[in-house]
Amino acid sequence: MSLLKPYSRLLLVCGLVTGLLAGCAEKEQALQNTEKSSPAPAAPAAAKAHWSYEGDTSPEHWGELEEDFETCELGKEQSPIDIEAPDVKKDSHLSPVEVDYSPSEVSLVNNGHTIQVNVSGENNHIVLEGKSYTLKQFHFHLPSEHEVGGKHNEMELHFVHKTADGEIAVLGILINGGAENAELNKLWSQLPREESEEAVAIDGKFDLKALLPGDLHSYRYHGSLTTPPCTEGVQWIVLQQPVEWSEAQIGAFRTLFPHDNRPVQPLEGRTLETEG
Ligand SMILES: [Zn+2]
Repeated sequence: MSLLKPYSRLLLVCGLVTGLLAGCAEKEQALQNTEKSSPAPAAPAAAKAHWSYEGDTSPEHWGELEEDFETCELGKEQSPIDIEAPDVKKDSHLSPVEVDYSPSEVSLVNNGHTIQVNVSGENNHIVLEGKSYTLKQFHFHLPSEHEVGGKHNEMELHFVHKTADGEIAVLGILINGGAENAELNKLWSQLPREESEEAVAIDGKFDLKALLPGDLHSYRYHGSLTTPPCTEGVQWIVLQQPVEWSEAQIGAFRTLFPHDNRPVQPLEGRTLETEG
């Protein structure tokens, strides 16, 4: 059981899943309004995340940290995974994911676990087998969370999408050292170095497509969020072709987050599919 008061607990949970669950801010506000007569809670401390990538709150302990996190330990469709060629089945009925992104207003948040880029508006979508998912945010892991043939790439980018009824699809992009990505500098020149709930707005519009590889062939499987509460029912699309960033661009992220990847999880008999 948690000793946190309901308000603190909600704030904590909202802090952890910012960007994935809409409506937390409104719920926090509603609760604050009902607590007007109480002394103000210590919001910054309560909002601080209670999970991490090392020590007593590292991934192997996530399932014990909070009642809501038990799926991290008990789930049978967890992410990330190691993608091994013999497990991948070609399906001739699958067509490559359609990515319908346009230049958009974005803002950066250092949430203590990664840099999250919040995307304004409802104009960016992917279409997967006829179903449309709207882009909400994207963020980064170092090294990559998914492995291919037992090997990490240097980083991985996750575009997180949702349908109107709450289904989640994550488009994963593997990143290797190489040529500089010029568009990325719009974000990287304003990296928030300290953890904060304040978002840093980026001037002008950001070209989301500049972060994609040319080839959209993918590995698909059913998995989970890779951070607590490790919610399952997530449709994963990991693109096969990696993109390149310069070592300086990768190094700039590494100085803030030396490693922020959850280790690969058991496949548990799941099938992986690719376009035939
Ligand atoms: Zn992620």
